[in-house]
Amino acid sequence: MELKNCTTCHRVFQYQGYGYILCPECRRTDEAQFQLVKKFLDQYPGAEGKEVFLATGVPINTLIKWVREGRLISSNAVNLGAVCDICGKPVCTGKLCPDCKKDIVKEFKESEAEDIERIEKIVPKSEGRGMKFLH
Ligand SMILES: [Zn+2]
Ligand SMILES: [Zn+2]
Repeated sequence: MELKNCTTCHRVFQYQGYGYILCPECRRTDEAQFQLVKKFLDQYPGAEGKEVFLATGVPINTLIKWVREGRLISSNAVNLGAVCDICGKPVCTGKLCPDCKKDIVKEFKESEAEDIERIEKIVPKSEGRGMKFLH
């Protein structure tokens, strides 16, 4: 057990050592809000953040927080106003848009020879290499 400050209400509480850093009370609220939004987005896929807020009462900042935490995913969650940390383009989940994620992988590839091998294993290049008989 570890004492931590709740990320929402900043009260000190006994952290269980896993999951989001929320006190039991905020965790309950968070979970209830999340289920509410999930239900709403199931019924109205592609709703805008403002509509979600009006229908569920869950603040847009909370929705964006969930998007950034990767909890709120997919086209269901478009138009929430979450943006990429690098280029500022809207993102559906996480902190980076797919383009910037790709760039990071590319940079990574250039700097980490070992990882090139790993990535290349996923996309085999063996086809067409060397000579072989067709029969
Ligand atoms: Zn709290
Ligand atoms: Zn980006």
